[in-house]
Amino acid sequence: MAMPNLASILKRILKAPTAPFHEYHVRAEIEALLKGCPNVKLKRDKFGNLLATYKNGKSKSSPTWVLGAHMDHPAFVKKPGSKKSGEWDFLGGVPDEAVAKGVKRGLRSKPAGAIATWNFPTQISFEKVEATACDDLIGCAVIIATFWELASLNLSTTCHAVFTRAEEVGFLGAWHLAQKWPFGKNDVFLSIETSRPVNGAVMGSGPVVRVGDRLSVFDSEGVSVLMTTAKEQGIRVQRCLLDAGACEATAVQAAGFRAVGISIPLGNYHNLDANKEIAPEYVMMSDVRSLIDLLKALVATKHDGIGERSIRERVEVRMEEYAAHLKASAKLFK
Ligand SMILES: [Zn+2]
Repeated sequence: MAMPNLASILKRILKAPTAPFHEYHVRAEIEALLKGCPNVKLKRDKFGNLLATYKNGKSKSSPTWVLGAHMDHPAFVKKPGSKKSGEWDFLGGVPDEAVAKGVKRGLRSKPAGAIATWNFPTQISFEKVEATACDDLIGCAVIIATFWELASLNLSTTCHAVFTRAEEVGFLGAWHLAQKWPFGKNDVFLSIETSRPVNGAVMGSGPVVRVGDRLSVFDSEGVSVLMTTAKEQGIRVQRCLLDAGACEATAVQAAGFRAVGISIPLGNYHNLDANKEIAPEYVMMSDVRSLIDLLKALVATKHDGIGERSIRERVEVRMEEYAAHLKASAKLFK
């Protein structure tokens, strides 16, 4: 299989209809796209999450990363057990009134088997990607593109990825994964998300290194490694608390593993525009490209410590620098 370019990866993934518990179309596209990728092995777990490992030679980055993206998005699913057709549950965090108004405006697609989604075209230009479900299909596409780029560079490293189910209803896939944790116990989970930009984050100014989400704060050293790598590579990133939502890093961390998150700023989060009307989601292409560059650099780098002076070293240098002041003031403390 020839290396697929970013636009074709995006198109194939974003066109797959998806809903919480109904991620099979997206999973099949990811499998098809990664099947021919050199150095990549695929596996499904018992919950239906898809696991992928890129392994080439014995080198490893430090830490070893487990990239994670979820395959679902808020949408309509057939009411379980209902005999009548046309009985739908809407699953995922969108207010009832907005959903009802969207249906009234005719924005719900024709049923595709057991699911129905909002019905917006997928539009990919040099600047912008617009689709029914950027959250988190952009994250899935970013991981696929990253693995292909590692393979095309024949880069020597090991990196894991998970594509999870049922995130939008409370991290069910990620929770299952963390209970089994088929990776090293010191490997660090990196949630790849799209999120509403808040607290100073801006669309088009680079991916956002999340110091936390609505529910937890993330691994401090992990955040430092992300920031240091971006700085070393000259990749533009933002560093913010994105607390308008929560991500799978929270679930994995709660289960006892180190976790951090990075998000591409998302327009019309969960299909709500500024007037709370149903609309397509969108992201900026420059943010997508920067994230792929950052992930490549991240899994190719050994960060012994964090590349910069540790906090301990910084304080010790200051202790020496100000020794005379410390001594001079000491005698005034009686
Ligand atoms: Zn998401």
